[in-house]
Amino acid sequence: PSATANMKDKSDRATTEQVLDPRTRIILFKMIGRGLLHEVNGCVSTGKEANVYHAVTPEHKHLAIKIYKTSILVFKDRDRYVSGEYRFRRGYSRHNPRKMVRLWAEKEMRNLKRLRIAGIRCPEPVEVRENVLVMSFIGDKDGWASPRLKDANIPESEYPRLYSELLLMVRKMYHECKLVHADLSEYNILHHIEEEDVPVEGQTVDEEGVVPSTVSDSTTTSQKQGHLYIIDVSQSVEHDHPHAFDFLRSDLHNIEDFFSKRGVSCLGLRRSFEFITSQTLEGNEGDDDEAKLRKRLEEAETGPEGDSNDVDVNEDVSNSKSKNEHEDEIFMKSYIPRTLNEVYDPERDVGALTRGEGEKLIYKDTIGLVQPIEKMNNLVERVKGVHFGDE
Ligand code: ADP
Ligand code: MG
Repeated sequence: PSATANMKDKSDRATTEQVLDPRTRIILFKMIGRGLLHEVNGCVSTGKEANVYHAVTPEHKHLAIKIYKTSILVFKDRDRYVSGEYRFRRGYSRHNPRKMVRLWAEKEMRNLKRLRIAGIRCPEPVEVRENVLVMSFIGDKDGWASPRLKDANIPESEYPRLYSELLLMVRKMYHECKLVHADLSEYNILHHIEEEDVPVEGQTVDEEGVVPSTVSDSTTTSQKQGHLYIIDVSQSVEHDHPHAFDFLRSDLHNIEDFFSKRGVSCLGLRRSFEFITSQTLEGNEGDDDEAKLRKRLEEAETGPEGDSNDVDVNEDVSNSKSKNEHEDEIFMKSYIPRTLNEVYDPERDVGALTRGEGEKLIYKDTIGLVQPIEKMNNLVERVKGVHFGDE
C-alpha cells in the first residue's frame, strides 16, 4: 500500500466518526502529509458549532483539533458578537459560511495567543487553516482530556482557591488582553492537574490529619494542585465592543452561580464587576491583585471594616449579605454604558459626582469617573458635542 493510501486512511478515521466535508478532509490530509499530525483519533467533543478531535504528532505529542462546522444555520446567532466589532465589519459575509467559520477559527487562534502572552492558562494555539484550529491538548499523558469544570471531581475545599484564580484570570484577560470572554461558564473551563513524574503513594490523609471527603477518580493521588484553563474564545470580544459589559456581566453571573452553589462565599455580582473592570484597585500599597481580592472577599463576607465611613457601616453582618443580593438584583437590570459617549444623562451624573454621591454611579470606575470634576466637565463637553460616532 502506498504512503498516500495510508495517509488517506488516517484522515478517514476522523471522517467516519463525524462526517466532515471534503474540503476539511483535504486540510487534515495535508497536515498529515506535512508531518504536523501523525494521526487524527476520536472525537473529544461534538458540539453545535464545532467538533474537537484528539490527534498525535509524529513525535507522539498530543494535540487537540477544533473543526468548525460550516453549515450555515448554526452561525446565524453569532451575529451579535460580530456586529459592532470594527475588525470584522469588512470582509464579514453572512452569506458565505466558509468565510464566516474561517474568521471564527482565526479569531480563536488570535485570542488564544493573546491569553498565552498574558500568561493566562489556556491551550497553546499551533496553527489555523480555514475552519481547522490545531492547539495543544489539555489532558493526561494517555490522551484523556481534562474534565470541564462542570464535570470535574474537585474536593469542596478547593473551590474557593479556584474561584479566586478564575476572577484574577478574568481581570487579567480584561486589562492585559483587552478581551471579554463572552461565553464563560463551567462548560468552557477545563480543570487540569499537571501530572507528576512520580506518583504519590497511599496519600489518604492531608497535613491536618483529615481524610479528604472526596477522593479524585484517579488511582494515584496527585500532590499537585489543579488549575483552571480557559477555552472556547472564538466569540470573545474586545473590551470596547458595544456589548462588552453585558457579556462580562453574564460571564460573572455564571461564575457566581457556579461557585456559590459549591459553597464558595463569592464577591457578589456588582463587586466582582468592579473588581474586574477597575483600572486600579484600591487597597494597601504593595498588595498585589490577589491580596486585594482576598481583602474584598473578606469584606463581602463580614461587611467592611469598622473605621470606614462606607454606607454599610451601621448594618450588621446578616444585613450586609442581603444587601449584597439586593445590589446585585439592581445591577443585573442596570444599563452600563461602555464609554462616556453612551452615558445617558451626563449632566445628572456630574451633578451627582459634585454632590459627592458618586457611589451611586454603577459605572464610575469603569470609565474613569474617579477623576477631578474639572476633567469631568471637559468630558461632558465632549459628550454634548454633536459629533461623536466616528472620531
Ligand atoms: P464548542 O464550541 O463546541 O463549545 P469548545 O472549544 O468549548 O467548543 O470545545 C468543546 C469541548 O472539547 C470542550 O468542552 C472540551 O471538553 C474539549 N476541548 C476543547 N479544546 C480542548 C483542548 N485544547 N484540550 C482538551 N480538550 C479540549
Ligand atoms: Mg464550549
